[in-house]
Amino acid sequence: MSDREHREQSGEESSPRPTARAEQETLQASILIVDDHPANLIALEGIIEPLGQRIVKASSGEEALKRLLSEEFAVILMDVQMPGLDGTQTARIIKERERTRHIPIIFLTAISRDQANIFRGYSAGAVDYLLKPFDPDILRTKVQVFIDLWGRGKRLERREAVIRQKERELLERASEIRFQNVTDSMPLCVLAGRPDGEVYWCNHVWKDYTGLSLEQTAKGGWLDAVHPDDRSALIAARTELIEGGRELVVEHRLRRANDGAFRWFLMRAVPENDARGNPAGFIGTMTDVDDQKRDREHLAEFKATLDATLDCVLMIQGADLGVCYANHGAVTQLGYTRDELDALTIGALQPEVTEERFREMVAPLQSSAEGSLTYQTSYRRKDGDEFPVEVLLQYVAFGSRGGRFISVARDIRERVRAEQALRRANEAKDAFIAAASHELRTPLAAAKAQAQLALRRLKDDPEAPPAKSLRTITGQIDRMAKLVEDLLDVSRVQIGRLSLEIARYELSALVREAAERVQALSERHTIELVLPDTVEVDGDRSRVDQVITNLLSNAIRYSPRGGRVVLTVEPEANHVHLFVRDFGIGIPPEKQGLIFERFGRAHGAKYGGLGLGLTIAQGIVEQHGGEIWVESAGVPGEGSTFHVRLPKSALVRAKQA
Ligand code: ADP
Repeated sequence: MSDREHREQSGEESSPRPTARAEQETLQASILIVDDHPANLIALEGIIEPLGQRIVKASSGEEALKRLLSEEFAVILMDVQMPGLDGTQTARIIKERERTRHIPIIFLTAISRDQANIFRGYSAGAVDYLLKPFDPDILRTKVQVFIDLWGRGKRLERREAVIRQKERELLERASEIRFQNVTDSMPLCVLAGRPDGEVYWCNHVWKDYTGLSLEQTAKGGWLDAVHPDDRSALIAARTELIEGGRELVVEHRLRRANDGAFRWFLMRAVPENDARGNPAGFIGTMTDVDDQKRDREHLAEFKATLDATLDCVLMIQGADLGVCYANHGAVTQLGYTRDELDALTIGALQPEVTEERFREMVAPLQSSAEGSLTYQTSYRRKDGDEFPVEVLLQYVAFGSRGGRFISVARDIRERVRAEQALRRANEAKDAFIAAASHELRTPLAAAKAQAQLALRRLKDDPEAPPAKSLRTITGQIDRMAKLVEDLLDVSRVQIGRLSLEIARYELSALVREAAERVQALSERHTIELVLPDTVEVDGDRSRVDQVITNLLSNAIRYSPRGGRVVLTVEPEANHVHLFVRDFGIGIPPEKQGLIFERFGRAHGAKYGGLGLGLTIAQGIVEQHGGEIWVESAGVPGEGSTFHVRLPKSALVRAKQA
């Protein structure tokens, strides 16, 4: 701010400025005449009056000194002999004073004719010495000389003052322009106010943003641009600034003129003093902090959200694997403070995964080959306790600044406990089924042997009632033995112990045999075969027989109204494709995943069956290196098609014991 502005706003009067016009004016000099005799004063006045200057009379040295304090004189005419301070003494004092030492003094005396007195007068500061009675013309001429000298000096002084003033004005203008340019080039609003708070200056940034002119701003319009909710806080702060002289820092919203949107600004205002240190108002700047503030708010929300999640969320530096962020969940679950966690590396938290192993694991993430990685490990708490976690890890690259891993770990203690309990229960159940089936085989075999023996003894009368009962018993024993075998097979499939005896056999013949066997069970169904004459394959004939028999039996069982069942065999280059099509009740699509599982059934109990056949079939087919699947629209009458694809040379899976 320029000095001139300071002066204007603080209400100071600037000194009258000499102008060119003033220079033209005739200068009127003041002449001080000092004599203790009023008559002499009158006489002197009469002599110099024609010079047309202002004449000031003093009747003593003291009075002369007093006059000199308040007025400026071009020349002093002084009587030497005076009571009190005489002329010489008075002259000395005049010469001692800075302000008056340059004023020429002409001594007037009647008596000091001798050299000594004259000398004393000169040494006291007189420039001339006139002895009474003096010639008025000479006196006037001498006085005129001094007046001219004074006038010339004065004019010179004034001219200099004019030049100085012009220079000062130019400087002020230049600094004003610079100030304006500087404040306009800054990306912030700048306002300047008077001590009473009225704004008297604002930069273009303010005007453009708020759409307010200086006049509108000054008249209090600035408050209209402030968000209504922020006005009272801003007014209070302004009072603090103006009355308390305290710096003001307030965040508030300001309306943007072009779209009416309110954006957040940080206002800083400082009291300003003028060159003499007096309060001169204030300068305020307003910086647009809207983006930063919103970013801060989003960050705070984001952190609060992360803190609210129960999982351990950690961010890990890609370079040194140091923890650089930990959420509240991590703090609670790991028992460290945030600062302590910040000083750790991920290796310290997961003892089972060395840093080397971790780097290997995360390499596909860093090369973007994988989007995320899920693994299970244990986390070690500060107190040494460990707990199982499932970790989901992702990598975020930051270009040249490296990257970070974001790890979300969930405490899976409960899940692990439940899984272990389930596994134990399953193992116990499997063991029980295997043992029970095994134990059932012997009494069943013994019962069947006894029944057959009894039948043989009754061979003379096969139609006798006991023979009929015995055949029923044998039939039921066969069914039960089949169930027990199935249970044992399922147990074997389950533990991968289904052994195959691989040999070359002819598949078409096997299919015919199986079809004949199954056809014998139902007269309402017709099994049609679409077969090549011969297809040689390597595999376990009796196990493949088991698969075909199961598929055909199912086709009949789930076609309760009878009808066609078509079995097709299509040899391929290295495989043979076999499929069984029926026109029965079909399988709803959502249940098709279930039927290959142990005890998995798609229909109710009225169809019988334990849901083991397809599990065993799948086990056998897969053990041969083949595959099995089903197609069905789930529409009754449209039936299902079961496909089996076997390699011609059975690849016995490594799983085989
Ligand atoms: P199950 O002894 O119960 O037949 P499977 O394992 O052979 O056992 O079959 C599992 C289930 O698949 C059956 O319970 C039945 O719901 C369904 N299923 C199998 N074959 C057919 C088919 N041809 N048509 C309709 N449903 C079938």
